[in-house]
Amino acid sequence: MSYVGPDFDPPQPRRPRRRPLVVALAALVPGALLGWAVYAAVGAPGDGGGAAVSASGSPSASASARDDGKKPTAGTAPTSGTAPAASPSPSRSRATARGPLAGKVVVIDPGHNPGNFRHTAAINRQVDIGTNRKECDTTGTSTNSGYTEARFTLDVAHRLRDLLQRQGATVKLTQDGDRPYGPCVDERARIGNTAHADAVVSIHADGSAAGNRGFHVILPEAVRAGAADTRPIVGPSQDLGARIAGNFVRVTGSAPSNYVGDGTGLVTRKDLGGLNLSTVPKVFIECGNMRDSKDAALLTSGAWRQKAAQGISEGIVSFLRG
Ligand code: ZN
Repeated sequence: MSYVGPDFDPPQPRRPRRRPLVVALAALVPGALLGWAVYAAVGAPGDGGGAAVSASGSPSASASARDDGKKPTAGTAPTSGTAPAASPSPSRSRATARGPLAGKVVVIDPGHNPGNFRHTAAINRQVDIGTNRKECDTTGTSTNSGYTEARFTLDVAHRLRDLLQRQGATVKLTQDGDRPYGPCVDERARIGNTAHADAVVSIHADGSAAGNRGFHVILPEAVRAGAADTRPIVGPSQDLGARIAGNFVRVTGSAPSNYVGDGTGLVTRKDLGGLNLSTVPKVFIECGNMRDSKDAALLTSGAWRQKAAQGISEGIVSFLRG
């Protein structure tokens, strides 16, 4: 309730939804064809990243995905932002795991941290993301009634971890509400790299203008600058993202974003440290828009969050099984 949102500059004009059926159709196509169908909507993989860039493509459209535009508030923590109890161990040894994902490592990155509101100086510290320097982390957004993105991301991460572990995967979280703030975006990337993850997904919800609805998956653009070289992961990350998008549509029934991605549910960006510094296949998912009342009703529903986790999980399973 006390959340004073970093608001979302400048409001983007709503874009007509084009080709909304592409991802929905892809959801009906099994296996590898699914990824292919979504590729067809956004451009072929391996074309250098430029053409595969979001159908939205333009810098202004990219900037409309608000995640990195959020500034920490100087105020106190939101009343509803209580950190959930930390799990004793975010990662478990699955050496004896059985299941289709046995031997696979998945890193889940719950965006932001419930404690970021109380550590604004620390999370404002600039870190090197290869292409430039950027804030260590941001507070994230919240619904108008004060349900924070950081709580949302942790909850979905826990549900997703359970689903993947049941398939035999080794799962690691970048944070589990068990640290005062952060980690910084560069460390979030390093955690996936160090784990030699087969797939990494960063969980978010957007904070865009009311009326902007739906989910989108953010893919790494090909960048080579400083410590960043995403060229080897662009192709596999597109495959991962397309499979997550298709399964997310199918399981949640949510439509792809009506404000970025031209109805494909896929957007490519080169301004996110968590993607730029990754050396393993990685995508972000913005599960919905917390500032839209209809999307907020979904995001605050535990039953819907379970479906969201299920959709993401099935996309990861599809990617890892090939
Ligand atoms: Zn976020």
